[in-house]
Amino acid sequence: MKSASAPMNYEPERERRPQFWRLAMRCAQIAGTVDVIFFFLFHALGSPVLAWINVVSVAMYAGAYYALKYHKNKIAVVLIWAEVLGHAGLGTVLIGWESGFHYYLLMFIPAICVSASRRWAVYALLTLWGYYVALDALMWYIEPLQPIPQTALNIVHLFNLSVVFAMFSYLASYYLSMVVSAQRKLREMATTDSLTGLFNRRHMTYLAEKEVSRFRRSGHPVGFLLLDVDHFKSINDAFGHEAGDRVLGCVADVIREELRAQDLIGRWGGEEFLVILPDTNADKAQASAERIRKAFLARDWRAVIGGDIDVTISIGVSELRTGEDLSAAVSRADEALYRGKTGGRNRVELETI
Ligand code: GH3
Ligand code: MG
Ligand code: MG
Repeated sequence: MKSASAPMNYEPERERRPQFWRLAMRCAQIAGTVDVIFFFLFHALGSPVLAWINVVSVAMYAGAYYALKYHKNKIAVVLIWAEVLGHAGLGTVLIGWESGFHYYLLMFIPAICVSASRRWAVYALLTLWGYYVALDALMWYIEPLQPIPQTALNIVHLFNLSVVFAMFSYLASYYLSMVVSAQRKLREMATTDSLTGLFNRRHMTYLAEKEVSRFRRSGHPVGFLLLDVDHFKSINDAFGHEAGDRVLGCVADVIREELRAQDLIGRWGGEEFLVILPDTNADKAQASAERIRKAFLARDWRAVIGGDIDVTISIGVSELRTGEDLSAAVSRADEALYRGKTGGRNRVELETI
């Protein structure tokens, strides 16, 4: 158990969560831009001192951005924390709680939760909460040091509220898209055979069961093909396992090219494939199988293997019968396949009545 998880722990943080650090770069850019707007806003509102504070902030965000770009994540984190805590604290103490500068502190909550280890996250969240409460409590007792007129204060408040609102919306949609794409990747990994890109056996069984149920409801025929590469072991032995893998990838391509979009193709075993043909009776399934067999003969296998050899396939065909289950139909295709092998290979054999 331990050895399986160990490599993860030695992986650099950046490689473990690349999306998070990309998001951090984007946030540094946005926050820097917001501070540039602040610079002009405070000048317009007649507070040059506050305006110049934003120049320092922009410099810190620029520093954080370049630190992230050159993989100095720790420096970036320190700069971003210092900027947000400092800016929120200064803004509040100088022009008051009403300015809404403290809202920016809330932005750290989701960032801490996704970026840190659980223990570090607890410390960071407690620190943040303590700072927030302390700032709030401080403002109960002191007056703002650089008060601005009420209208200007309202404008600053609305501006801060809107920026935080927009950034939360952006972060939430970014996190959602991250989760959705992770789910998609997991689903793909759980259903696909990585070598051939076809469905794996487990997913193929699931899809086949669905076809069997559909057959029971509607009575539409369902054809099955069981395909097995001939003398595959000798390809491995003569040209190596990697060449064998390339052949398997190409076998999957040939089968895929010869079938319709609605046909289901899966890797059933090592060099064995199962095909489910919805709305297809045994005769039509046999014709499809024959098409696949001929496509194997037409393929330039020399280019795939890098050696002088032809690859052929034997195919057993069956059709689902009333009252039977999936395994019965597959095992009849398997019997037909066996006849194809014993009959000389490179053959399509139909199930016996
Ligand atoms: P037959 O014509 O009777 O089917 O003979 P065969 O050699 O194809 O059948 P056999 O079952 O004796 O050998 C199948 C071989 O397929 C043995 C196994 O090493 C190889 N094999 C299974 N999975 C893979 C794989 O993922 N990659 C490669 N390269 N070889 C594989
Ligand atoms: Mg074989
Ligand atoms: Mg086999």
